[in-house]
Order: sequence, then structure tokens, then C-alpha cells
Amino acid sequence: MKRVFQLIFAFLLLLGAVAMALDSCTSQSALRKEAPAPTPAETFAPIPSETPAPVEVPQETEAPLETVAPTPTKSMAEMTPSERAAAWGLPEPPADIDLSGREFKLANSYNSITDQRPNHSYGAGVIVDEVADTAFDRFVSDCIAAGYASVHAFRGYLDYWTVLENYYEPEVFSHGAEYAAKVTYAPGCNDHQTALCVDLRLGGTGYLGEGVDFRGTEAWDWLIAHCAEYGIILRYPEGQESWYGTACMNPGHFRYVGTEAAKYIMENNITLEQFMLLYDWEAVYVPGLN
Ligand SMILES: [Zn+2]
Repeated sequence: MKRVFQLIFAFLLLLGAVAMALDSCTSQSALRKEAPAPTPAETFAPIPSETPAPVEVPQETEAPLETVAPTPTKSMAEMTPSERAAAWGLPEPPADIDLSGREFKLANSYNSITDQRPNHSYGAGVIVDEVADTAFDRFVSDCIAAGYASVHAFRGYLDYWTVLENYYEPEVFSHGAEYAAKVTYAPGCNDHQTALCVDLRLGGTGYLGEGVDFRGTEAWDWLIAHCAEYGIILRYPEGQESWYGTACMNPGHFRYVGTEAAKYIMENNITLEQFMLLYDWEAVYVPGLN
């Protein structure tokens, strides 16, 4: 019996020891849980203090230049008519233009001609060169037939002495040469000396002065819309004085240049001077240009 009690006692002692051991483990575990959390520095890998090496980008700007020859820049004087037209933003100009033709005789504020005596003829009732007489006749008569009966030509060819004595000298004597150059032409510089132009106006009763301006009328619109069909242009388009200098004192100053040239000039709203420079850079002197 005593042996049994000894065994039981020993068993209980063992149980107690196991219980104490378990309790100890639990307490240590709790202590661990209460321990301060490790600092991030201890937990994570340290951030490298050195910045990453920059990725090498090919430096194109420093690459040696290709050995391509530079594009030769042609001056306007060296260009062909097509190239000049392109440089001015104009379409391909007509091919068959001969500036030595009589219809391209040119006079303006900057370009003088000796007196060109017309092969005497009459067109639209005034003196014009025979290369232009039929064109002006048809132009005015067709305008009248279209319903604008009072349109008529009142000035054609003027010779050197008429330009000098009737138009130029009176302005010089009254207002001085500087003023005269702004309102009229010195002899040699007047388009009327070419015999290739007419001044048109609307008729009527009473005095019709130089300054009669019929722009904006239906008759004017008809003339502008149809003149190129007859080889005729508006000689002095507004706002393009840098090409020709002074405009004729009559706005209705129409000029014969031939059908091909007239169509190109009127369709593109350019001057006779600019048209001629397409073909020959020396054909006309334009201040500040050539
Ligand atoms: Zn005129």
C-alpha cells in the first residue's frame, strides 16, 4: 500500500513540474510579445546611399555630323521661272512667254522707256498699238453689249511731249518734283507711252474728271471678271504699289499683255512687273528686290 502512495506522489510531483515548465514557457512568450518591435532599419535592407548610376543615353548632338553636302541655296536670280513662281507661292507659269514681244513693253515709276511710237491704230476709239486694237475694241463693245452702255475709253496713247507738258510739268510747277512723282509720271515712265493701255470710265452727261472712280459698280465687276479673256489686265492692282510705284490717276486703267499672261496675272492677282520677273530677273527694276 505504501508503495502505491509513493507512486501517486511521484506522479503528482511530475505533473507539477510539467505544469511549472509550461507556465514558464508561456510567460517568456508573453515577454517576447511585449518586447519593442524591431526598428525598420533592422528589419529592411538599408537603402543604398549611392544614387543609381545614370543610364547612358547616346548623345546624338555630339555625334559627328554626317558628311552630307549642304543644299545649295539658289538666289532668285538663278532660279527658273517655275522655281521663282514656287518661291512666291504661285502656280506654274505659262511656258510660251516671250518678253521681247511688243506687248511686254514696260514703263513705271522706276523704269523708263524711250518714246514708243505705236504702229498707229485705234482701239476702243483711242490711239493704241495695232497689237492691242482688236482686243480693246472687243473688250469695250462686249461690255456695252452686256448692258453697261456708258463704259467708254477716254485716253490711250500719249507721246513724250504730251506727258511732259500736260501731266508732269503742271504738277512740278504747282507742287514740286517730289509731289509730282507721287501723283504722276516723269516722261518716259508713263504706261500710256507704250500705246498698250486705255483709261476707261462710265459716261454720262456733264464733266467727268480724272478722279472718277467706278470701282464697286456692276460695270467694273464685269470688266475685272472678263478682261483676261481679251488679253487685258488691270494694270495697277490696289495695295501692290511696291512693284510699280505710282498708279495711273484713273483707276480704270487697263493694259494689253496677251491672253496667256493676262489669265495668269488676273487669276493670281499679281502685277505685270512680278509676272515679267518670273521669266527674267533683270526685266524690271523693283526697289529693294533686285
Ligand atoms: Zn491711265
